[in-house]
Amino acid sequence: MKHCPRCGSKHLNYLPWLGEIYECRECGYRGALVIEDEDREAVEDEDMAEDGDGDGDGCM
Ligand SMILES: [Zn+2]
Repeated sequence: MKHCPRCGSKHLNYLPWLGEIYECRECGYRGALVIEDEDREAVEDEDMAEDGDGDGDGCM
């Protein structure tokens, strides 16, 4: 989900022929910078799992 950085509206038009440009239909903002809102799918959580801290396996 993308939001307009100026007014927060979700009504954005993508204008690929201008080069990754979005245009807001509410306030008329036009630019490459938009607010991207990930839909509560925690993808970044995997980063900490590779620490190998609580792995007391005792191989020897
Ligand atoms: Zn806007």
